[in-house]
Amino acid sequence: MWRYEALLPIDRPEGVARAAGGTPLVRSPGLDDAAGARVFVKDEGENPTGAYKDRGSAVAVPHTVATGGDVVGTVSYGNMAISTAAHAASLDRECVVFVPEQTSSVRLELIAQYEPTIVQVAGDYGKLYGDALELSKHLPIDVLVSDVPTRISGYKTALFEIYESLAPAAPDVIALPASSGGFASGIWLGIRDLKRAGLIAEPPRLYLIQTATADPLTRAFEAGETEPTPLSPDETGDTIAHSIGNPDPPSGARALAAVRDTDGAVVSVTDDEIRTAQRRFAVDGGFCVEPASATTLAGVSRLAERGDIAADESVVLVPTGTGFKEMGTSEMEVATETVHRDALRDRLESLLAS
Ligand SMILES: *Cc1c(COP(=O)(O)O)cnc(C)c1O
Repeated sequence: MWRYEALLPIDRPEGVARAAGGTPLVRSPGLDDAAGARVFVKDEGENPTGAYKDRGSAVAVPHTVATGGDVVGTVSYGNMAISTAAHAASLDRECVVFVPEQTSSVRLELIAQYEPTIVQVAGDYGKLYGDALELSKHLPIDVLVSDVPTRISGYKTALFEIYESLAPAAPDVIALPASSGGFASGIWLGIRDLKRAGLIAEPPRLYLIQTATADPLTRAFEAGETEPTPLSPDETGDTIAHSIGNPDPPSGARALAAVRDTDGAVVSVTDDEIRTAQRRFAVDGGFCVEPASATTLAGVSRLAERGDIAADESVVLVPTGTGFKEMGTSEMEVATETVHRDALRDRLESLLAS
């Protein structure tokens, strides 16, 4: 991503930040049928901590350190905490992360390897964003939440990379999962940068996908509103897409503006659709993506079915995070059998014959 250093607010830092971004864009014909369009995959799971969050942390954490911040903090369902803690560790800074009470033990372990201070917070997660900002006024902690401008500027590099990989062609559609709306804001910023530079005439349509159990952006989009209405705890449910359950998205207004400006839409998908899409990503595409990221395929499939996306259009799905971090947390049953080596040849013959 430091290829675009001139368009970022800091000079190229040292350490793990150098490994952020630069992820591959892959044409994936095996996913065309499931999506209902021509699929390209921008695999953000290949970042150093397995999620696109590194693009933002790579800019925001060094920027904070350069401006004198001693302790870096963040509020997160997991990926933001893992990423912020890694980037703080790389610059030898202390880090404090606030995570919801019900964060899985796998995720806690992933965060803990960088040895930040982890605080599990009980109560309404939607309110924690404001609480954390308030705390940073009274304590020497720079809380790098989802919509700090330095983070958002790092996110726009994903858009630049998509355009550079596809050139001279351009994508018709980009599909992202949306929670706080931070990533969507960054992608939109990138689109506007390229337009201003005269490099693109027609922007790609931006489609944002939410989980049906927490979808304030979809509701606002469908109601024609410019700002989401925060959902109360009893309006939100459990979902396997833990990374995108934000009931009160701080960058919601910008995400909605991005969608309208590019003639896109916001749609919600159910956990069943997400499970199917996650399986398709693996079985038809060879990609291991987390449920929050599988929403992109589920959403595009829905949009193609209702006629918003045509079969010959090129669609960039952005799986935002790797599925490797979720291993051991699902109810998936693995069908296997043990065969003695003496019986292997016979057994394989019968397996291959069936
Ligand atoms: C953070 C995250 C999202 C949501 O991004 P926002 O910027 O909060 O909209 C989506 N997918 C994954 C894997 C994430 O970690």
